[in-house]
Amino acid sequence: MLQLCPCCSGKPFAQCCNLYLSGQAYPNTAEALMRSRFSAYATGNLPYLRKSWHPDTCPELDADDLTTQWSRLEVIKSKQGLKKSIVEFKAWYREGDGESALHEISLFKLYKKRWVYVGPLSDWP
Ligand SMILES: [Zn+2]
Repeated sequence: MLQLCPCCSGKPFAQCCNLYLSGQAYPNTAEALMRSRFSAYATGNLPYLRKSWHPDTCPELDADDLTTQWSRLEVIKSKQGLKKSIVEFKAWYREGDGESALHEISLFKLYKKRWVYVGPLSDWP
């Protein structure tokens, strides 16, 4: 059975974020990186979350950070720049009988030629 990617791209996991999570490739856009980070949360891949986080802002992460049951991702808007990019998204998770969403405008920067997650912004700059 074909496993669809958790990031809701509609593509098979093996041909989408798993290319990045398994280290076969590295995302070349901030949006692709953000999608792969959602898939890392959804599949419990801590090493990938650390690797894709800017070292200046990466918190101590452990298995307790992966208890949320992420259900789907909705990319609202993304703006790709040369060294900085911004992606606004809603990450949905199961809560009781329903679903709630984390709504975030995230900042990404190019670090050592790779896109990494810096952190949330309070608004579009
Ligand atoms: Zn994906």
